Amino acid sequence: MDGYLTRRPHEQLRAQVRSFITEEIRPRLPLKGVDARTDATLIRRMARKGWVGLTIPKAYGGRGQGHVAKLIVTHELARVSPGLAAELQACQLGLAGLLNLGSEQLKQTWLPRIARGEVLPTITVTGRDSGSHIKGITATARKDGDEWIINGGKAWIGASHVADVHCVVLRTSEGTGDNCLTAFLVEAEREGVRLLPHQESVALQGFSFGEVHFDDCRIPDIHRIGEVGEGEAVASSSSILYGRLNLGGVALGILEAILDTVVEHTTQRSLYGKPLIKHPVVNDQVGEIQANVTSARMLAYLAAHLLDRGEEADTELLTAKYKIAEKAVASATLAMEISGAYALFPDESPIAQLLLDAHAMRPPAGTPGIQRLRLGQQAAGLAKGVPWSRRFASPRHSGVLERLTGD
Ligand SMILES: Cc1cc2nc3c(=O)[nH]c(=O)nc-3n(C[C@H](O)[C@H](O)[C@H](O)COP(=O)(O)OP(=O)(O)OC[C@H]3O[C@@H](n4cnc5c(N)ncnc54)[C@H](O)[C@@H]3O)c2cc1C
Repeated sequence: MDGYLTRRPHEQLRAQVRSFITEEIRPRLPLKGVDARTDATLIRRMARKGWVGLTIPKAYGGRGQGHVAKLIVTHELARVSPGLAAELQACQLGLAGLLNLGSEQLKQTWLPRIARGEVLPTITVTGRDSGSHIKGITATARKDGDEWIINGGKAWIGASHVADVHCVVLRTSEGTGDNCLTAFLVEAEREGVRLLPHQESVALQGFSFGEVHFDDCRIPDIHRIGEVGEGEAVASSSSILYGRLNLGGVALGILEAILDTVVEHTTQRSLYGKPLIKHPVVNDQVGEIQANVTSARMLAYLAAHLLDRGEEADTELLTAKYKIAEKAVASATLAMEISGAYALFPDESPIAQLLLDAHAMRPPAGTPGIQRLRLGQQAAGLAKGVPWSRRFASPRHSGVLERLTGD
């Protein structure tokens, strides 16, 4: 079984992604050492297929296919290249704020270009001084007539070195009140935008993932996303409605790659005259990884399906991102044990790389500690405000969902 809660248009998309993987991605693997600044070929080709703009409504030139479709693409790509899947999902995440809170003028200008794959967006929130603590952001925007002057640095930004436009969340007033942040759209080529030299991370080969700095960068007020003071809403709605499922999808692909690797190893390697899988302890460990894959698929596809139906899904999204990433780390650790010394040599086994890739799914869109904090608050009725999935309920995705649900 490939996924759940999918029908023909979804499976047609899955087939398209698989043939792209076979023809375009596999011949270029491994992406080790790829300089994401100069080799943006694959991400741009995927964007031109409409895979960044899958959730952009047709009225803005997008495919209007929704979150299950988006999940299919990240999930399938991550099974083969977690780094490319991370890059694509970062661009998908970059359009969420614009879609949810952007002015009509901004949407008309940018969404069709993103949908056509001409423009790659990022979500640029985190600073070295403010990860989970979003209200600790120190990069600022100061109003000057009809413009804003922005200063400060952002770190660990997905697709940083390939993007054309950044959706940036900045401090616009002192303190940690509810309205201290505001979001803006800033073109990568604008004067005052500077990229720090790209550093290769130990995880997610081929992922452009770096630092963007602003030095007295001037942007017009019409580039503001949402009202002044709505920056946290832009960041949180993007993270919860897009980021959690996107990272859950990448973690799901990583989990499947772990299972594929372990099955190949345990059926081909023999010990004491029989394949490793025939030894009960190993069989039990492989069974645990299979259970992790199956439950991760259910979590991810159910959360995406609820979003597409326009139903409340904040708890399911939190749980999916948290649990799938944890299952990926736990499965990779078991796979290391099963693979013995083989796991320590990258030319013989991808397991150690997959373990690092699984760990990379933990910090973004809410660390495990933050997900548990939010889930605990929800359980105790302490969560504040209207759930994001209710506030920005997806329009039902014309045709596709009606056929899916029989509504
Ligand atoms: C693969 C990847 C992609 C990313 N992509 C982007 C991107 O596109 N855009 C972007 O803006 N950022 C991005 N990031 C950055 C990401 O958002 C941050 O890593 C994340 O917000 C966590 O911040 P941090 O790493 O500084 O960890 P910290 O926030 O410093 O957390 C460190 C530890 O403290 C714990 N902790 C922190 N606060 C609390 C609390 N209140 N209660 C309990 N425990 C707590 C955490 O659980 C964690 O264990 C990405 C990161 C990664 C790894």
